Amino acid sequence: MTKRVPVVEKLLSANDRLAQENRARLDEAGVFAVNLMASPGAGKTSLIEQTLPRLTERLRVAVVDGDIATSIDADRAAQAGAVASVQINTGGECHLDAVMLHQALGQLDLGQIDLLLVENVGNLVCPATFALGTHKSVLIASVPEGDDKPYKYPGMYRGVDALVINKIDLLPYIPFDMDYFRRGVEALNPGLVTFPLSCKTGEGLDAWIEWLLHNLTPTTRPPDH
Ligand code: MG
Ligand code: ZN
Repeated sequence: MTKRVPVVEKLLSANDRLAQENRARLDEAGVFAVNLMASPGAGKTSLIEQTLPRLTERLRVAVVDGDIATSIDADRAAQAGAVASVQINTGGECHLDAVMLHQALGQLDLGQIDLLLVENVGNLVCPATFALGTHKSVLIASVPEGDDKPYKYPGMYRGVDALVINKIDLLPYIPFDMDYFRRGVEALNPGLVTFPLSCKTGEGLDAWIEWLLHNLTPTTRPPDH
């Protein structure tokens, strides 16, 4: 009798093993890592750009950027004050996986890093399926995408530890029913911590920064926190 293991299942368990290895490596070096996921244009890079200057006095922050092509985002991260930035060009893959992060970690001096921000490929479907080994997963939604996204992409909303709602400065101009949006989120991920903010105006960013600081692992937590 032939035993059949679906290919996807096999791939995922191999990915999970490597994700665990990544996590062990990060823990050993005392690096707290966050996986940032969103659709293209929601503001992952903008959030990184706003986050870095607010932390770099206290923490050494590095950025890993996943994109299908170009190093535009890694360059922006370096410009914003990252101690190191690594661009992963996935060559067509629509998500990061643990192998790619493993390779990126190999290019970083982890002993010189406190916080690692991983910008996943812009995509609201499969990044949620591939564990990287990061400590927290954050989804960035944005007002122009529309209030129906939790209903249309439940997988992304279910697995994350925090939700950023970016571009709230556009709320007066775009039909976006915040209550409808939040009800959808609550049904999928009850009690999910949410940060409505604007990377453009800076409104709401303080709460996001506080959340990052308070989630740092004890080894990486700065003395005043
Ligand atoms: Mg980007
Ligand atoms: Zn994908």
